[in-house]
Amino acid sequence: MYFFEFMDGGLLGLNWWQLILATLALTHVTIASVTIFLHRSQAHRALDLHPIASHFFRFWLWLTTGMVTREWVAVHRKHHAKCETPEDPHSPQTRGLKKVLWEGSELYMAEAANAETMARYSHGTPDDWLERNVYSRFTWQGVGIMLGIDWILFGWAGLAVWGVQMMWIPFFAAGVINGIGHFWGYRNYDSPDAATNIVPWGILIGGEELHNNHHTYPTSAKLSSKWFEFDLGWAYTRALESVGLA
Ligand SMILES: [Zn+2]
Ligand SMILES: [Zn+2]
Repeated sequence: MYFFEFMDGGLLGLNWWQLILATLALTHVTIASVTIFLHRSQAHRALDLHPIASHFFRFWLWLTTGMVTREWVAVHRKHHAKCETPEDPHSPQTRGLKKVLWEGSELYMAEAANAETMARYSHGTPDDWLERNVYSRFTWQGVGIMLGIDWILFGWAGLAVWGVQMMWIPFFAAGVINGIGHFWGYRNYDSPDAATNIVPWGILIGGEELHNNHHTYPTSAKLSSKWFEFDLGWAYTRALESVGLA
């Protein structure tokens, strides 16, 4: 009896709006991990992270996405190298916006299974004991542990929290950035691809909204360029830098 009462609200016993805030906070940490660690640091080498920071991001991405660093990096570098051609893994210009927006993670997974892409574009990504024996070997177990953590913290509502966490990156990164970020928005620069800035305030997706700036200056750690633009990932990067973690 006691156990079932406990499971109703979990350890934290949050009400509905506290649950929404907690879910947004959790997904926000995942977005920050993707934009700072996977995208700016690993794929483009635009910044160096202290091992404490990169280990935290790797662990968090394993818990909340199950994505393997070398696969994400290789697919993304190929996207820049072959942008808007039939070889681009997820161009809405060649595949249609609907396909990339709603099936972006399927396109990603199909390209991640391409051994040639992995061999050609994944250089410099983590290849240590942890990567070989845990993260790239047990890819779904991390999100399985996360499900247990959500259940303990939030009770039955934790299942919904977990579901939102699992959909967040496939939708906002693989769908919205890769799809809309090459389709709708404004352009500061006449980059050779179709990349656009979706909105000038990069908050919800950590600055990745400024995709036209990014395709124009891919090795810049800062994605904003006009005075009215804001890149939250850059603010976090500066904060990490101020404490010696970046
Ligand atoms: Zn792009
Ligand atoms: Zn990029």
